[in-house]
Amino acid sequence: MSALTHTPGPWRWEYNAKHRSVHLVGGKPMYDLTVMDFERWGMHGAVPRFIEPSESSNGLMLMHRLCDRQDWIAPFENREHHAHWCAAVTHPDARLMSAAPDLLAALKEVIERDQKSHRGTIMSGHHCHANDCPTPTPQSLLMCAKHWRMVPREMQSRVRATFSVRSSAPGADPASWADYYEAAADAVEHVARLEGKPLDNSYRRMVPKWREFATKREAS
Ligand SMILES: [Zn+2]
Repeated sequence: MSALTHTPGPWRWEYNAKHRSVHLVGGKPMYDLTVMDFERWGMHGAVPRFIEPSESSNGLMLMHRLCDRQDWIAPFENREHHAHWCAAVTHPDARLMSAAPDLLAALKEVIERDQKSHRGTIMSGHHCHANDCPTPTPQSLLMCAKHWRMVPREMQSRVRATFSVRSSAPGADPASWADYYEAAADAVEHVARLEGKPLDNSYRRMVPKWREFATKREAS
């Protein structure tokens, strides 16, 4: 595989009817370089010319016919014995051209995935807190319906009770926050155990900090 880099973009086609030529131009400064043009190849047809990659051109624009550059041609894998009538073009610009449809498809997929997850966030800004569950959930609920059903009644009511105490006087009593985080952590870990997922969760990690906070508050 070639380690050479392609000609920088943007690129554009320039069709010149007067001089009967077609150039693909690009580079920096913009359109300063010819990425590809064509020359007569015997009596049969045309051959593209590619630019000498900048790593080896010392800043000069050197164009070479593909048929004169064996180092820009390589056999297809497992078709070495066909190389004299069907081979690959390995010039970095040529490779980029043939990769364009795949690159575009991959880019569209990334954008679509990003927009989907973005839409999910806008809808609620909050998701189920069971480990690895992306289901959008109203802010007031700890988990989506499916996961909440897996939590035993007694654990559910402890989450509800501690949440309402904590919310009745927000920030006033650090112990009530610790109580709530502990109840939530128990519920999250219960579901994780049932699903065979890691128990680690942010609620459990917050408990010691808020307990310590509460103790300091009491002492002061
Ligand atoms: Zn869930």
